[in-house]
Amino acid sequence: MKSYRKELWFNVPTRRAFINITPQVEDCLKESGVREGLVLVNAMHITASVFINDNESGLHHDYETWLEKLAPHEPVSQYHHNRTGEDNGDAHLKRQVMGREVVVAITDGQLDFGTWERIFYGEFDGRRKKRVLVKIVGE
Ligand code: ZN
Repeated sequence: MKSYRKELWFNVPTRRAFINITPQVEDCLKESGVREGLVLVNAMHITASVFINDNESGLHHDYETWLEKLAPHEPVSQYHHNRTGEDNGDAHLKRQVMGREVVVAITDGQLDFGTWERIFYGEFDGRRKKRVLVKIVGE
């Protein structure tokens, strides 16, 4: 069995963003040489997500609006977590809703997606360097 590991680095210039990381994951898959197996992609930070959905800008706008309704960034004083001196209480909650990781089947050397599925990095507390882990196992 082959095993491959890589960290993807991000430094998003805004507090929040959604980034299509499908091309980077496909590059990892090529590099791994795995033809049949599984790929795990997970955020290595508790204020960022990796999720699968449609690469459609209206949907990403809707996520932003929905998440801000669920867990508004301001006032930052509404979160007990921010009593530690942080201001990212909302980002922890947004990450919980959008998830930590995805697993995608690898078939014949390709990501075995549904028609509109793409992999996204969701940043909820950006403006600093953060990592995503890509782990591929198979043969
Ligand atoms: Zn925090």
